[in-house]
Amino acid sequence: MELGGKHVVITGGGRGIGAAIADRLSAAGAKITIMGRNMKVLENKAKTLEPGLAVQCDVTDEASVTVAFLAAVAEYGPVDILVNNAGAAVSLPFRKTDRAHLQHMLDVNLIGPYLCIQACLQEMIDKKSGRIINIASTAALKGYGYVTAYTAAKHGVLGLTRSLALELATKGVTVNAVCPGFTDTDIARDAIRNIVEKTGRTEDEAIRELTVHNPQKRLIQPEEVAATVLWLCSAGASSITGQAIAVAGGEVM
Ligand code: NDP
Repeated sequence: MELGGKHVVITGGGRGIGAAIADRLSAAGAKITIMGRNMKVLENKAKTLEPGLAVQCDVTDEASVTVAFLAAVAEYGPVDILVNNAGAAVSLPFRKTDRAHLQHMLDVNLIGPYLCIQACLQEMIDKKSGRIINIASTAALKGYGYVTAYTAAKHGVLGLTRSLALELATKGVTVNAVCPGFTDTDIARDAIRNIVEKTGRTEDEAIRELTVHNPQKRLIQPEEVAATVLWLCSAGASSITGQAIAVAGGEVM
């Protein structure tokens, strides 16, 4: 098994893209710890993984992150692969983007990954082996209207990814960002509902609007993001570091 015995931590692994990553990496033989705030969702998901551990964690809270990683390491040993997937996207016009909203988007999408990397990087360096994969977004590579705070945070994640990749280049640890386009999860469903409520358009029209920039004219499936993450975890991807891999039907190139 490609990831046999490896300990993978996936933040936000209870649903959406994170759950698809958990399935894919579990099928490749990894021991999976999924972290998030909603224990019920996590526990239900963890039961489907062989083996899987659910650990409560709010990635915006440093103490919570510290305790969560201690619990994960106590169960499955040092973290071999960290997938920073937890995130939130709330759209607002810029004139309504107050400081609290900006701070929230930065906390969950940028500070969260920073805290989780800090919590497990030293052990990767000690072992001279590790993979850090940040689930960013095409919003790390280009701008979109009405999501300035989210886009700023995701651009920040990509800056962190590139700089950390250079710092760790000779230490056996790769750091990459996976950048999905609009993907068929709660985030996209919420955006579709928002468009329907605010504009009176139908759901099909809302989906067409969300996918207008995707040359394949469709939502990305979570499993497609998971397949890219699995590839980045493979031995064959050892020289891939500091990259932003768009999984977006050709939206950015
Ligand atoms: P979902 O809304 O389906 O899931 C978000 C996950 O993040 C949940 O498991 C949630 O768990 C977790 N989470 C949110 N806030 C926190 C927090 N403070 N602490 C810990 N966990 C948290 O989103 P997706 O699966 O769609 O998104 C996953 C990632 O992919 C995000 O980073 C998102 O920005 C990115 N992405 C998504 C795209 C899309 O169109 N769907 C496109 C591009 C990027 P819980 O609520 O239990 O805490």
